Parts: sequence; structure tokens; C-alpha cells
Amino acid sequence: MEDELGIECGVFAAINYDNRPVFPYIYWGMRAQNHRGHQSHGFLTYLDGRFHVHRSLDLIPKLKTSAITEWFGRLPGSIGIGNVRYTTSGKCDEQSLIKGTQPVTASKKGLKIAVSFNGNVVNTFQLKREICQQFPRFSYECDSDLICHKLLIEFLKGKSIPSAVKTCMKEIDGAFSVACITQKGEFFAFKDPHGIRPLCMGHSSDNKTYAFSSETASLDINGFTRDFELQPGELVTVTKDRIERHQLVSNERKAFCAFEFAYFARPDSRFDTKYVYEVREEFGRNLVKENPDVVKDADVILSVPETGDDSALGVHDESGLRWERASRRHRYVTERAFILLNKDRNPTIDRKVNILGPKVNGKRIIVTEDSIVRGDTTKVIVDKLRRMGAKKVYVFVTFPRIIGPCFYGIDMSTYGQLIGSTHNTEQIAKAIGADAVCYQSLKSLVKATGFKQNELCTGCITGRYPTPLAQKIADEMKKRFENGFEEKERLYEMEEAIRAS
Ligand code: SF4
Repeated sequence: MEDELGIECGVFAAINYDNRPVFPYIYWGMRAQNHRGHQSHGFLTYLDGRFHVHRSLDLIPKLKTSAITEWFGRLPGSIGIGNVRYTTSGKCDEQSLIKGTQPVTASKKGLKIAVSFNGNVVNTFQLKREICQQFPRFSYECDSDLICHKLLIEFLKGKSIPSAVKTCMKEIDGAFSVACITQKGEFFAFKDPHGIRPLCMGHSSDNKTYAFSSETASLDINGFTRDFELQPGELVTVTKDRIERHQLVSNERKAFCAFEFAYFARPDSRFDTKYVYEVREEFGRNLVKENPDVVKDADVILSVPETGDDSALGVHDESGLRWERASRRHRYVTERAFILLNKDRNPTIDRKVNILGPKVNGKRIIVTEDSIVRGDTTKVIVDKLRRMGAKKVYVFVTFPRIIGPCFYGIDMSTYGQLIGSTHNTEQIAKAIGADAVCYQSLKSLVKATGFKQNELCTGCITGRYPTPLAQKIADEMKKRFENGFEEKERLYEMEEAIRAS
């Protein structure tokens, strides 16, 4: 469910070849992606060899049109990058969050780069060691610092942009979709060789502005046309005369995050040919086909707003059951439940979602959910339905049972926090008080996305991770967890301990 998980980051970057300020594009592009990270945000623009930066905690503030114009003074220039962030690496205290706010910069010997990044690095310790040799005072606050410094190290060796980026692609294990600006105003973006996180390119109708974005919704909001999704291992450089696509690393095994479809991305964004809402509707239809007996025993459908809404429509289409809009979200309670302490989380969820009692009293209900992570959010919803007199509660879950952590930018980072790593489906139903929990099968999920199985990352639901170090850490930590080891930190931040073992 939406409130349980921290999403990694969102990127928007733009360049204008008519000397117009790009800040408004970046501001609106980032506002449209605030769901991808709400702990901090930042904007960086480039003018005449200088970077101009604004970084702050929390959601991107609402600005009036007149205030946006005033910001041109602080953030001038026709090239810029923006970022929204949720912490999936580094520390989470306020000071660290401020230091880890993106975009980040690095400079040495007259070279300078700025980076906005979405993803997560797995071989953190190896990179830190390498960076500290060149930058003895390097202080690691987030993975974007690693990417930024690693790239600068390659530039300091005199490499071209394609050559420096290629080295990063080969030597960094993890997920990274990155937009960059150099001290010369060079503008480019690239994706890791598995293409785990999204990044697309688009342009304005007058062909004067070009943009990179994590999600297509940010292009739409700016009135841009989407051109293409960057390929895994691809670098795109933009100059006044041309856009150049360089396929630097070719990888048989692509691994776009399957969870983007079920949970992260906006329903009105699209990856390749399909909109996310279409895929979610298909998920709902699949759940009906896979669970005919449960459907026969139900009276109405209800969704957990808002990520369960599209799949609820699919369940309705396929089953003919009425979709009751009986669960309503209070749009002005803005605390995000997943960043709260456990003791505060459930009351917050309770306050955010209200159930219309008369619509559920005496009914047998199918509730659609995007995922079950800890299980506590779904349990609150099931409890509420029971209190309102629901006779039966079946939970339809579009994302298959999550059995392992994510190493690529989603904050589910230990086995211990995942109910699905220690409970089977029947045990989960019992734990959350449902009559049954029905997960969509992996096969149906893959088919609905339009991707092939070997083009998707399904690490957290299959235990098979696309990158070697993540697989090694996952296997080792699973063994330790099953032997009673207490996980005190994110597993990918224990890489050093694993290597030493
Ligand atoms: S492990 Fe799961 S959440 Fe993480 S990238 Fe892979 S599919 Fe997405």
C-alpha cells in the first residue's frame, strides 16, 4: 500500500536553446513527481560556468506564478536539473537528510559536475574506498555523491563523456538513472546496464527545449512530447545541433523494476507502450480469472485509495461486481505513515482512510491492494471493515508476495520487515484478519506489463536479483536471518561485513 513504503527519487532535467530560463519546467516537472520522494527536494541551474542551487527538506512548496518568476533571480540559466528524494541510502537524521539532498555537485582541478540521480548503489564500500583515495575528505551522505565523484574521477583521467560514463556503468553495481551538467554546460543523461529505474526523454512543441524525466507525467504537465525511454546502458547527450544516443553497454538481462507498475509510478505515466493505469486494470482482471471461487462468494469491490483504484476497476470489469467507493482518503492529512514510528503509523492510517459504514455493513467484500509489505496497513483497513460490519473480507493483491528486500532504491531493505519473508499466504491472511489473501501470479503480472520475464526485475518476489553483488548479499543475509541474526541496518549497507565474512 502506498503509505507503507519509501520510494527512492525522481529526476527532471531540461535545456532550452532560446536562452529562456528552465526553472519553471523543472519546478513543475518535479512537483508532478513528488510521490517519488518527499523528504527533500532540490533544483540546480547553470549559467556562464556557475551552478546555482536551491535545496530544502520536505515536499516541494506551492509557488504562485509570480513567485516562480522571482525565483529566476536565484536560479537563472537555461540548463537545469531537479530532484525529489526519499532516503534509501545514508543516514536519516535531519542533518544527514539536508546534506544528502540532491542535486549534488563535485569539483576538482577546474572540472565540475552536477548530478540528479534515481536509484541505489549496491557496491557502496568499494566505491567509497576508491573515491577517498582521490578525495580524502569525501563525506558520504547519499548514493548520488558516489555517482557524482566516480564520474568526476573518470573525467579527471581525461576521458570523454561516453568513456567516463561507460566506466561508471561497468564498475557500479546497482540501479542508476542519472542526469548531469558539467562546468562547460554539457548536458547528458544515462541509465545503468539493467535499466532498473525509469528515465525518458521529451521535447517542447517549438523544439527549443529538451528534457529528461523519471516519469512521462512530468513531460505531459510541461506540454512536452515524449520521445523515448532510455535503453539500459544508454547515454544520451544533447547539444544545440543534435541529440546523440550512445549504446555504451549491451546487456542481455534487462531488469526494469516490476514494482513501478504496481505501486510507484503515477497511473498516468507510461513505460514503453503501456500506461501504468492500463496495466493495473489488467492486474485486476487477472485476479478475477485466477480466483473464481472467491469472486463467487463476494458482493462488492472496494479499493484502498489510490493505488488500488485502477485494479478495482479491472476487478469490476471482469467480475461484474459493483465497485463501491466506500473508502475515502482525507486529502489534508498529509503525514506519510511509512516514515512514522510503528506506534504512530496505525493511528495515522486510521485517520487518513475513512470507510462508509452503510456501504459495507453485512457485505462480503473484495478489497484491492497494490502490495503487502509489513502487513500493518492492510490490517488496519481490514479491522476497519470488520468494525463497520463487513461479513467477509477478501484481499486481492496485485503485486505477488514480497519475500526479499530491494537493493535498488525502494526502502524495504531487510528480511525482518517483510511479513512475506516469514509467513505464507494463509498465515498472512490470518495475521491481518482477512478471510483470504489472493496474490496475482508472477506469470500474469509479467504478461500484463508487456515486458518479457527477463526484461523485468522481480528480485523481491522471486529472490533472483539481476546484479551479482545484490544476489550475493541477499543469499548470505537470508541464511543469517533464518539463523536468528538481527538485521540492524539496510542489507546493502552491510556489504563490507559480507565481504569480510
Ligand atoms: S527488488 Fe523489487 S522493488 Fe526492487 S527493483 Fe526489483 S522488483 Fe523493484
